[in-house]
Amino acid sequence: MKIGIDCGHTMSGADYGAVGIKSESNLTREVGTKVISKLQALGHTVIKCYKDTCSSLNDSLSYRTNTANNNNVDLYVSIHFNAFNSKAHGTEIWTYGGKTFKEVNNILNNICDLGYTNRGIKNGSNLYVLKHTKAKAMLVECCFIDSKEDMSKYNAENIANAIVKGLVGETIKINDKEVFKIKSIVCYNNQVDKRAAEYLADYLNCGTIDITARTIDTNDYDKIYVVGGGTSPTENVIRIGSNTDRWGVIKEVLKFSKKF
Ligand SMILES: [Zn+2]
Repeated sequence: MKIGIDCGHTMSGADYGAVGIKSESNLTREVGTKVISKLQALGHTVIKCYKDTCSSLNDSLSYRTNTANNNNVDLYVSIHFNAFNSKAHGTEIWTYGGKTFKEVNNILNNICDLGYTNRGIKNGSNLYVLKHTKAKAMLVECCFIDSKEDMSKYNAENIANAIVKGLVGETIKINDKEVFKIKSIVCYNNQVDKRAAEYLADYLNCGTIDITARTIDTNDYDKIYVVGGGTSPTENVIRIGSNTDRWGVIKEVLKFSKKF
């Protein structure tokens, strides 16, 4: 079978995924690359329908569906992780018109067998990648990255096996120790530093996080920039403008970005 695998979202900039306890972009790679290796090891053809950086959301989405369509895949699977209010949890799969087919039911049941709540099959007719793919298509929201309950159960190998088995009826163990890290993230502690953080994120082509609202897993990132004062993660941190007011912070950021 020829299967299009889409690790939803990019690794920085436009169409970067949601951030909760863990980052969606990272987990889609962690699970998706396992799914790809396993399918290949089982003799299937895999078309990678994603790229790590895109110039815009439209570039990102159209690349995914064009790649699937140009390669005439039999089945298209877009892998995502959900984020909502830190209380919502569980697994759901979106299809065009909410229609179901064998592989959708299998994957949903297999992931829920790992202990995740079954949130059902949802009508994703408005979702770009479901609307524009010619092949049978599904978008899997594996679980919630901002739910403690879901993240405590999270295991990339188990979810990848659930997906592969749901697609082709069997799975396989492979040796892959690769850990996917996001290059950089810009954090801020105070709303007054949000704009400075966004300027820096534009310069670095990465995302921003308000760390008063989220705790981040420092292992997910190569470099963590903290803009302005306040508490911050301690490892790998580059602090910019920690001892000044909001205007001083902007100045430090512009200096750092060589714009001033
Ligand atoms: Zn997503």
